[in-house]
Amino acid sequence: MTPESTPRRIQRKRVKGWRMPNGAVYVGRPTKWGNPFRLGQPNVDDCMVCATPVEAVAKYRSEIETFAGGFVGVSVETIIRELRGKDLACWCQLAYWACDYCHVKPVVVDEDGCCVSCGGDARFVKGQPCHADVLLELANREPESSRTQEPR
Ligand SMILES: [Zn+2]
Ligand SMILES: [Zn+2]
Repeated sequence: MTPESTPRRIQRKRVKGWRMPNGAVYVGRPTKWGNPFRLGQPNVDDCMVCATPVEAVAKYRSEIETFAGGFVGVSVETIIRELRGKDLACWCQLAYWACDYCHVKPVVVDEDGCCVSCGGDARFVKGQPCHADVLLELANREPESSRTQEPR
């Protein structure tokens, strides 16, 4: 697989003129792909509330992998069948490079991590953990059978 053909996560934007790229699937709420675990004040009576995005994503993954869908309601088989090879879109912030001199983000950087417009040091801003990363990984994972199959 070439890097260009590797499915990736796209950040959906509420900007005039922005359109979902062709073939991309929106996986946020209220679609069946949306993460039912949500952020909020942790509460013993509601196991769907998570304190951090990392926790919400981890719970999402464990429901699918350990409980065959569970609260999430989609199985690995469904994910592979419907999402394999597709770019997935969500609202969560992607990782990007920012330049403190240009005050634009994201900026393009050269191989040394310097801003290509002004040459200043750019900094890498980590993206927001997102359940779409879990979906991407599961959908494009090598099937168990093809890994272990003996050549005929
Ligand atoms: Zn710059
Ligand atoms: Zn997301």
